[in-house]
Amino acid sequence: RARKRFGQNFLQDHGIINRIVRSIRPGEHEHLLEIGPGQGAITEEILRSGCQLDVIELDRDLVPILQGKFGALPNFHLHQGDALRFDFSEIAKDKPLRVVGNLPYNISTPLIFHLLSQHELISDMHFMLQKEVVDRLAADPGSKAWGRLGIMAQYYCRVESLFDVPPEAFTPRPKVQSAIVRLVPHKELPHPVDDVELLQRVLREAFNQRRKTLRNNLKPLISAEQLEAIGINPGERPEKLSLADFVAITQVVANNPIDEAN
Ligand code: SAM
Repeated sequence: RARKRFGQNFLQDHGIINRIVRSIRPGEHEHLLEIGPGQGAITEEILRSGCQLDVIELDRDLVPILQGKFGALPNFHLHQGDALRFDFSEIAKDKPLRVVGNLPYNISTPLIFHLLSQHELISDMHFMLQKEVVDRLAADPGSKAWGRLGIMAQYYCRVESLFDVPPEAFTPRPKVQSAIVRLVPHKELPHPVDDVELLQRVLREAFNQRRKTLRNNLKPLISAEQLEAIGINPGERPEKLSLADFVAITQVVANNPIDEAN
């Protein structure tokens, strides 16, 4: 009865469920938020710690199941709705949130961007994702997987790929390999920019065509001479640059006149 449009693949492997919760290590006095609890596979193990747990589930049909299992516990609180629209400040009143979830893979990228935009409220995140997405989040500069998603995640967080999870751990089985990732927001951003949206724009343009050079991709925003002036070779491919390089480019672009024709 799993619903494809909600990205439902329920965890059934208790070894994996325990390994995930051991990686999270929920503490009795902590406040956790689970996105997409489904039928409660991870929820049940997290609640054992005695922590305060809020969950957000989109599928209304799962609400009575979750309330039936956990509704009597004073530390459990269910929100029915869309995590993409959820304002986390509503529940992160006195303590930073630890966010966890075996995420619906069809919305994982927008959801991660939504969470990163509220990073001040979050002390860490543990997610099950498509392995390919975890590889992009945890990528090193210069590698094939290095791009907009990893750079923005690493702008805000330390990212650690923890372990892989095979399709057999779920019902129904997803078509892809999965993996667990940990993201820990930096207390102080190591490479802050004045305008994060401008950094995002620079990244969109820079990686627009991965095989093209920076000179070509960034033409609407910055000149080859300006790149050279900050020590960046305009003939380089975008994936060769570090986060610090993109931040330096953004600071120059911020002072350039905007050419709306591009
Ligand atoms: N945590 C459960 C488990 O591990 O067995 C279920 C994981 S399943 C991959 C993803 C869950 O997220 C489903 O229960 C689905 O209904 C829910 N979901 C999908 N889109 C959502 C959204 N936008 N906001 C909140 N929950 C969502």
